[in-house]
Amino acid sequence: MLDLAIIGGGPAGLTAGLYATRGGLQNVTMFEMGMPGGQITTSSEIENYPGQGEIMSGLDLMENWPAQAMKFGLKHEMKKVIQVTKNGDTFNLKTEDGEIQEAKSVLLATGSVPRKAGIKGEDKFFGRGVSTCATCDGFFYKGKEVAVIGGGDTALEEAVYLARMCSKVYVIHRRDTYRAAPSTIEHMKNAENIEEVTNVTVEEVIGDNTGVTGLIVKSKIDGELRQIDVPGAFVFVGRDVLNEPFKQDGGSYLCDVNAQGEIIVDLKMRTSVPGVYAAGDVRIEAAKQVVCAAGDGATAAVDIIEYLG
Ligand code: FAD
Ligand code: NAP
Repeated sequence: MLDLAIIGGGPAGLTAGLYATRGGLQNVTMFEMGMPGGQITTSSEIENYPGQGEIMSGLDLMENWPAQAMKFGLKHEMKKVIQVTKNGDTFNLKTEDGEIQEAKSVLLATGSVPRKAGIKGEDKFFGRGVSTCATCDGFFYKGKEVAVIGGGDTALEEAVYLARMCSKVYVIHRRDTYRAAPSTIEHMKNAENIEEVTNVTVEEVIGDNTGVTGLIVKSKIDGELRQIDVPGAFVFVGRDVLNEPFKQDGGSYLCDVNAQGEIIVDLKMRTSVPGVYAAGDVRIEAAKQVVCAAGDGATAAVDIIEYLG
């Protein structure tokens, strides 16, 4: 029986694993379906992790986290957890291979995934010109023109990153003011090869059997249609929390969630069910920052040690 099962190996899960094992828990497994590191490993750059020197890629920032956590006994199983159910005072975790493992406590740290914009052609051309990761796919468009859809931190930061390798980047946003931080907006405005296309809706991603060839956008002011010819479109329109492991047969959840499916926790990351915790982007009112996710993981682990007595 596991003392603690951590689901997700991003900043929240890794930090919880570090604190739980270093704090004395013997039997802690982190279930991470991919390589540990989490969504920040798709970011081209990060500059706001405290104590960090130079701007670095998300991959570089996370490089040492897994080894540090595992030094104190954290185990990693590269498996997707599909459901957690309550079994008296303990919990059963079902992984996608059909195996069931028992744990005295569970921490959900599954973060979030990119949201779809719901544009015609987005699904059809996903992976064939439509992407949600500039670090992964930007290189394919070296010297070419691309479009970025969205007006948040991710869209503008990744537009600046793409502008360094692409000949031109169109930032396509549905309003004329941005949600991104002021310094990020300034970086974007300083890039000479970024054209802002604001107050528009994207009507369609168009393409042929080679992949994307362009976008059709419609002005929200006069309804005029414009075709933007690009072989790549990067969609950064927010993220949806990954709460699937807590879904029960019949549609309810293992613990209380809000209308967006975010896990409701208190200041110790405790959910409505004793022994069940959530940390990082998957919880209510998450600041969606690496440092905050890591802090949540530490907070949860400290309380889990106390809970297990
Ligand atoms: P995540 O990092 O999302 O990790 C969750 C992990 O859980 C993933 O590795 C996933 O594979 C795993 N998982 C999910 N479901 C399952 C399952 N069922 N079973 C097993 N494993 C599962 N923050 C900053 O502070 N500064 C920045 O500059 C910054 N830039 C960003 C740029 C981009 C492009 C993006 C996408 C995010 C950025 N963020 C930034 C936000 C930051 O990355 C997140 O707030 C942080 O990673 C959240 O950590 P987390 O541990 O909660 O979740
Ligand atoms: P976000 O802040 O939610 O921004 C999403 C953007 O996409 C918004 O501009 C939104 O427009 C637009 N949008 C949403 N749905 C759309 C649709 N269907 N069609 C077209 N446009 C659509 O998401 P994010 O940029 O991914 O950031 C997520 C969180 O991570 C935020 O809290 C952010 O601060 C954080 N983050 C931080 C950093 C950093 O600290 N440097 C970097 C990246 C992300 P409206 O503005 O009109 O709503």
